[in-house]
Amino acid sequence: MNLDPIAIDTDVLVIGSGAAGMYAAIEAARNGAQVLLADRSLIGRGGATVMAQMTVACALGEETPDDWQHHYADTIAAGRGLCDEKLAQLLCEDAPACIRELDRWGVGWARKDGHITATMAPGHDRPRCVYVDFINTGPAVSKTLRTAMARNPAIRKAGDLCIVDLVTSDGEVTGAVAYHLGTGAPVIIAAKATVLATGGLTRLYRRNSASANMGGDGYALALRAGATLIDMEFVQFFPIGHLAPRLVGMDPIMWDPFRYKLGGRLLNGRMEEFTSRYGSDEDGKYVLTRDLATYAIIKEVEAGRGSPHGGAYLSFQHCSAEALRAAFGPVIDRLAENHIDLTRMPVEVAPIAHYHMGGVKADASMTTDVPGLYAAGEVVGGANGANRLSGNAITEALVFGRRAGKSAAERAKRMARPTLKPQDTAVTLDLIRADATTEPCQNTAAMVAHLQATMADHVGPFRTGAKLSAALDEIAGLAAELGEHPSGHAAAFDLQRLDWFDLRNMLSVAHAVTATALARNESRGAHQREDFPKMLPQWQVHQRVQLRDGALKISGAPAAAKALAS
Ligand SMILES: Cc1cc2nc3c(=O)[nH]c(=O)nc-3n(C[C@H](O)[C@H](O)[C@H](O)COP(=O)(O)OP(=O)(O)OC[C@H]3O[C@@H](n4cnc5c(N)ncnc54)[C@H](O)[C@@H]3O)c2cc1C
Repeated sequence: MNLDPIAIDTDVLVIGSGAAGMYAAIEAARNGAQVLLADRSLIGRGGATVMAQMTVACALGEETPDDWQHHYADTIAAGRGLCDEKLAQLLCEDAPACIRELDRWGVGWARKDGHITATMAPGHDRPRCVYVDFINTGPAVSKTLRTAMARNPAIRKAGDLCIVDLVTSDGEVTGAVAYHLGTGAPVIIAAKATVLATGGLTRLYRRNSASANMGGDGYALALRAGATLIDMEFVQFFPIGHLAPRLVGMDPIMWDPFRYKLGGRLLNGRMEEFTSRYGSDEDGKYVLTRDLATYAIIKEVEAGRGSPHGGAYLSFQHCSAEALRAAFGPVIDRLAENHIDLTRMPVEVAPIAHYHMGGVKADASMTTDVPGLYAAGEVVGGANGANRLSGNAITEALVFGRRAGKSAAERAKRMARPTLKPQDTAVTLDLIRADATTEPCQNTAAMVAHLQATMADHVGPFRTGAKLSAALDEIAGLAAELGEHPSGHAAAFDLQRLDWFDLRNMLSVAHAVTATALARNESRGAHQREDFPKMLPQWQVHQRVQLRDGALKISGAPAAAKALAS
């Protein structure tokens, strides 16, 4: 099979076509750049954006007076002292412009009396979250951005193109090498500027809200290119992921939008309200932030008071059939197809891995610490600190995407041509073309499942030093099993080879999450250490992760903690 690389040149390469990548592509093109938007999935249909359901936080103030500074204050409070203030400010201050632009492009934000309406969500001090009704926000945002891109001939799109490595020449990112899933061919993309918009990492966990392409590629790509990651220990668990009964064709986090409208009672296996035992009383309303609700449900299950499948009940039985129909709209019929009648039964819910607060370190122009590389969306770390507010993630994707696209186009304008040197692609080309038919076949799917179980059991919402150390051993064992070269042979639609590339990234990202969690000897936001239950002032610091001489290097821990750990 001919595996000569295909070569492409562009001003700006955008990797990932969620909200962040699509907005970056649009903005770069508006600023005069020729853009290539590459995604390992279908353009605009992979990743989290298209699955997101309801809230987009934004201080529009059309219904209730609001200002970006109130949104900022709530974001900072939720972040438990760890928000990067410049990124949080950018998120809150630029949100209204992005939301209004999407409105002009026809996204269809829900309206009341002619103005865009906003709903209340936990942690926000007033109704601030806009939405497209009946769990259509993500699909509508995605479709709107796809349509806006289609109007701009300066944006080329390439789906089924999995970026395997960024290319660095003389310390700058000069493009990327990709694996074309349909043919198995390598593709070399020379770019004057590259925007990383690859989304999050929650596929690392057994129970997650992720799609198959959310194994954390971007964090690993950034690490190997010399960039810095921050706050990797902060994985957000969504407290009320659907657990039982069986629910086909609907998203596991679908209950949240309806809780915004109707509240809903969280009950333990004995049908008692229980959140007041853990410091906050929901009393039928929806007020608990995600970290506190996750804590309350897990502790109740541990105390032997869980629901039959190991979670809690969520009940809307106090609502009338009419109120349910009005709030759920056509979704009530889809639930009926799953034999779920909310007037007669509660459902079971439990925490699932949902979002990552940590990620690539970038400044407020979305520039990383490697020249030529920009980052946008969930792959960026810092804006939300140790805990993210509902609705801030789509906002972050839109705002950071727009800003990254502008910065990337500005760099491209300053450069005569891409500076990628072919010799800097050799190592990755060898991996893509490696033919290892003589090696025993690896069961990569089983290895992914092993890693997901390890992360769920040892690096979940509640951690201990012993569990985290055990996880590091498992991760090291899997890395040794994976080896240095892909198994199988270079071929079209070679899913085993894709698993190999996925595992290479997932293991390195899992290592970063686990090692930083082990180093952080305190509890803060989404990172709860049972052996260090207090939040400690000396730990109000960002831990940084870098790859140096092939090994992960963690820095930033306070001196006293380092002494304790050594
Ligand atoms: C089920 C669900 C519901 C959610 N609901 C909400 C909500 O209501 N409100 C809210 O604010 N947030 C919500 N979130 C979070 C929010 O949707 C995400 O944080 C946000 O959409 C991320 O956007 P993004 O553009 O950064 O990444 P994504 O939308 O995840 O897009 C990343 C893209 O990168 C591509 N990619 C990854 N690796 C590679 C590679 N190696 N090569 C090429 N392409 C690659 C992927 O295929 C994908 O298309 C939800 C998340 C989920 C999973």
